[in-house]
Amino acid sequence: MNVTKVIWRGLSKSNRDVCLLASIGGNSKTSLVFELSLIPTAIIEAWDEYNAPGDACMIPPGVWTKVERAILRRYALEFWLAYTHGWDGAPHLQATHVASVNSRDKALEARGMDWSVFEVLDVGAPMSSQSALCPGSKEFSNKRGFKIGCGSCPMACNAGAAKKWRAVVTHGNGDASRKAAANRRGNNELMNERGQVKGLYVAA
Ligand code: SF4
Repeated sequence: MNVTKVIWRGLSKSNRDVCLLASIGGNSKTSLVFELSLIPTAIIEAWDEYNAPGDACMIPPGVWTKVERAILRRYALEFWLAYTHGWDGAPHLQATHVASVNSRDKALEARGMDWSVFEVLDVGAPMSSQSALCPGSKEFSNKRGFKIGCGSCPMACNAGAAKKWRAVVTHGNGDASRKAAANRRGNNELMNERGQVKGLYVAA
């Protein structure tokens, strides 16, 4: 298989969720993503079982190394937007990916292993004082009055030498109503552990 040929044939412009697909090497600044259809079916099935769709941790390291090399030839690391949920079993992704975690314990564990971290916070949970709020989040724009997209983010979700810890409040189904309810209870502020207000759940 000519991996390079397969990869570039698979690049396409898409409005699909970049975060989901980018974990196999998307490019936030050009909106290019990879088509999952070019990945062997067995791997896609494994992704589904693992509940980590599109996660590069499910690609065998030997295959990933070729994929990574081919992408890097065209796009420098700074253009990547890449997350993995399987960071603790995929040290070979550390040069290109950010560890995606859902708890403070996991965030600290990943930081301890020198990963850059993207932490998803529950509504009402404080941010770590070491983390920065994702400037593309609703909570950021509610407080600051503007938003920054991934393409111009000053702390982009790529890996690299400068290790970063970013946080975002959960934004799945039902979370908007949980945030509105918190607001009604008088708890509209997203604070860090020092009590500094970093974002607002609902626009003031
Ligand atoms: S931290 Fe920046 S690159 Fe990462 S999701 Fe937020 S806006 Fe996008």
